[in-house]
Amino acid sequence: MTDRFAPPPSRGCSDTPVLKQRGQHEVFCGLTGIIWLHRKMQDAFFLVVGSRTCAHLLQSAAGVMIFAEPRFATAILEETDLAGLADAQDELDRVVGQLLERRSDIRQLFLVGSCPSEVIKLDLSRAAARMTEKFAPRVRVLNYSGSGIETTFTQGEDACLASMVPVLPQSAARELLLVGALPDVVEQQAVGLLEAMGVGPIRVLPAASVNDSYGIGENTVFALTQPFLTDTHAALERRGARHIAAPFPFGEEGTTAWLRAVASEFGVSQELFDTVTEAPRARARKAVAQASQSLNGKSVFFFPDSQLEIPLARFLTRECGMTAIEVGVPFLHRAVMAPDLDLLAQGPVIAEGQDVDKQLDRCRAARPDLSICGLGLANPLEAEGLTTKWSIELVFTPVHFYEQAGDLAGLFSRPLRRRNLLKLEAA
Ligand code: SF4
Repeated sequence: MTDRFAPPPSRGCSDTPVLKQRGQHEVFCGLTGIIWLHRKMQDAFFLVVGSRTCAHLLQSAAGVMIFAEPRFATAILEETDLAGLADAQDELDRVVGQLLERRSDIRQLFLVGSCPSEVIKLDLSRAAARMTEKFAPRVRVLNYSGSGIETTFTQGEDACLASMVPVLPQSAARELLLVGALPDVVEQQAVGLLEAMGVGPIRVLPAASVNDSYGIGENTVFALTQPFLTDTHAALERRGARHIAAPFPFGEEGTTAWLRAVASEFGVSQELFDTVTEAPRARARKAVAQASQSLNGKSVFFFPDSQLEIPLARFLTRECGMTAIEVGVPFLHRAVMAPDLDLLAQGPVIAEGQDVDKQLDRCRAARPDLSICGLGLANPLEAEGLTTKWSIELVFTPVHFYEQAGDLAGLFSRPLRRRNLLKLEAA
């Protein structure tokens, strides 16, 4: 099979000057990641050390999205803790002791920092070390921050996965590590395609259970499935593992390029690669063509939110016929983003960080057909007649790899179709 993608642009966005913005930003915090992480790690428990606001955020986000035995909770810092009048470490020990006594199914406990715990400088790494000593080998206790101070919601997963890397044992085995918490069915598709090419052994971070542990070292190669895993990328490199750089597996083109990069690393022949990918590629191409009809010729504006913006702009411009006006990202990690930036034709403003009022002004002036933004901006923009898509849906919906490529295009075309229908009804 020959590639039928548009040729790479003569000049991609890798050298495009970046508009750096610092100011008020409108994003969810990293606690949000617990909602999808707790589903992946079946023996893990996430204990947020935070305020009633944190508890409400988790309850409202999770309440509509999960129906399961809770594997997360909030240890609420009371005013006496916040004022330094009580020893929060003692209180935390007591809460964790009670929790682990009650729940023998917990094998990994994550102490998750929040804005309040950061403000009072509660040392959760010290607490995690103390508790690991106390509860090992039955429970492994780790910590990371999900605070919303200067971070965006997908950084919670990154911080969580990065916290797991230092405790992986050393190994000299030549293995592939897939990094990112994908829905099980999507993960199985990716592993299935790679195994059909003879690539392996394949490990996954995060693993479903602490018992699925594996080692890591200089012979480990890893492929990221999510573009926001930059701290995890750094932590893996510190352990000697090597990153396989590739565009992210969104759409037919991104998936093929991602698989090809991994296949090349493992010496898979072109013939075998084509045999394995031909049928799913054809399905993806057909599904994207159908789902993207209403996207063709339309313009899109990305507010910085999920950190998926650059690979999605590449998908929407190259596979769905859209024009990108501005692609805002919370932060730009060149090494991770370079393959997608190379494929994104010059033209859009590439913005890093956010000064929300200035960005809203640019969006209003451009009047894009579709704006991708957080929940907080969607309603005001809709009220001004602009069509929006909530970026948080992109992490709650299976969108990676071939079989989801049509659904991914559909996520963007639905708001445009809805707007057209409303217009017709109003006419
Ligand atoms: Fe709010 Fe910070 Fe708690 Fe997130 S971590 S819910 S931003 S207080």
